[in-house]
Amino acid sequence: MPGTDYRRAVSGGVTGAPVAGRSDLDRACRAALAAGATAPRVAVLGAGAGGLCAAIQLRTAGIDAVTVFEKSDGVGGTWRDNTYPGAACDVPSHLYSFSFASKPDWSRKYAPQPEILGYLESLVERYDLHQALRFGTEVTDATWDEGAGRWVLGLRDAAGRRSREEFDVVVSALGQLNRPYVPDIPGLEDFAGTVFHSARWNHDHDLRAERVGVIGIGASAIQFVPRVAEVARSTVLFQRSANYVAPRNDRVYPVWVRRVFTRFPWIQRMYRDSIYWRLEARFTLMRRDSRLGRMLAASFAKRLRPLTRRGLSEAALIPDYPPGCKRILIADDWYPTLLRPGVDVVTEPVDRVTARGVVTADGVEHPLDTLIFGTGFRTTEFLSPVRFTGRGGVDLDEVWRDGARAYLGLSVPGFPNLFMLYGPNTNLGHNSILFMIEQQVGYLVQLLQQQVVLGARAADVRNAAADRFDDEVQSAAAQTVWAEGCSSWYKDASGRITNNWTDHTTAYRRRLARPDLADWELLGT
Ligand code: NAP
Repeated sequence: MPGTDYRRAVSGGVTGAPVAGRSDLDRACRAALAAGATAPRVAVLGAGAGGLCAAIQLRTAGIDAVTVFEKSDGVGGTWRDNTYPGAACDVPSHLYSFSFASKPDWSRKYAPQPEILGYLESLVERYDLHQALRFGTEVTDATWDEGAGRWVLGLRDAAGRRSREEFDVVVSALGQLNRPYVPDIPGLEDFAGTVFHSARWNHDHDLRAERVGVIGIGASAIQFVPRVAEVARSTVLFQRSANYVAPRNDRVYPVWVRRVFTRFPWIQRMYRDSIYWRLEARFTLMRRDSRLGRMLAASFAKRLRPLTRRGLSEAALIPDYPPGCKRILIADDWYPTLLRPGVDVVTEPVDRVTARGVVTADGVEHPLDTLIFGTGFRTTEFLSPVRFTGRGGVDLDEVWRDGARAYLGLSVPGFPNLFMLYGPNTNLGHNSILFMIEQQVGYLVQLLQQQVVLGARAADVRNAAADRFDDEVQSAAAQTVWAEGCSSWYKDASGRITNNWTDHTTAYRRRLARPDLADWELLGT
């Protein structure tokens, strides 16, 4: 068992010895609970993919007292919020689903948003989560009560009523993509037309025959712009930087394929694995100045340059940064859309908005009826707007004033039994985020099981372990393509890479396979 010197820093009340193997730990935890050990009460924040995964795995491990707080009135998180036309996942669906909850009958390679949401909703029934879910309840703050050794959560229901509840463990599954970002453009409030963000699509608003402007051309815009351009009178794309858009090669799975996957789960598993390894191999591209990256950049430029003869500028088409520095996008209808009559790509910076439209830095006013923001999310603020106060009254925002960081992307010293899913440095540019979430949940479940077995009340990650991990991640980050010259949501304002995991996902899986108790201070009862 790694970290058997855990006894160095335990406070009173920690009685047992840690258990090594996963199944032995499972058994030992169940036995301890059956013998009257206190099961931790767990609050999960958010009922998106991460929150559902945590609730399922905790309950499967016998840790039943789980409450999932969800502000809205349904599960699904980002897949509930993002209903824009064309919304779909850009990771193949057989991998964009949980390994323990397969869906053999995905309709196509890249499932559309309603099917992904349906999958997440189906987990509620499949794992009997109804009792665990508390909808219409927002967690506003969480404060560590030193005396009780518990978290006190501030709650606000849909009617605005406030209350407080205590939990032993808080699992934040708020995600990185939950708070839409709208840039502060002068004059925006004066615009006389309709304005909305892609993650808050206004389905009541008819875009037919309208002059539509789109500010921000990233992963979301690449999906909704082709649908908008089909119906709008004109579409003006205000694009700050060009994207690498690779072919998507989406396809429907014929009925016989779905039947084979349903009848022979091992074939589906092999197919899923083949997707995983193919994506995993792409991490090579995430390394700084890679040969593959240079070759890809050259081949994109060669393929796209001929389009400049059809009225599109090089700035509109050819990225001025290496592939992977921002997310590589996939679409089959992007370049044909740019060539459509009525579609304009404007690469002049946006200067201001007027009542009539958008004015660019060259002084040209682009008249518009509707303005859509595809400007992404407030990604580097992580757990905001929930306010976390840890040991000694320390505010998490204060700890993170120089950029978010967390041990294994999961935990911050001074915040015992607070675990974050999809926390700092766990986003990916090359593989499925659900894989990362499963590793995080597997780790925290084991850490809680150890606490039950040991009779510990909580675990607080040691400063030295957290610093060591952060140094390692940041020095690896400097060797990645994300450190090269491009603006992206992977970095905070200072340029620190706060969002991405900087190695293969296999390395992450190894790191999280088993908690090293030497890295944790176990607090007694
Ligand atoms: P995004 O990729 O961050 O793109 C935001 C766009 O807004 C970029 O083009 C950016 O320009 C532009 N922008 C930001 N601030 C601006 C400003 N002040 N003025 C003008 N332009 C500005 O956002 P997103 O498209 O919503 O996607 C966010 C993430 O969500 C993706 O990276 C992906 O992880 C996830 N997503 C996934 C899928 C999927 O299929 N799985 C689909 C959609 C989204 P610059 O590039 O110049 O910064």
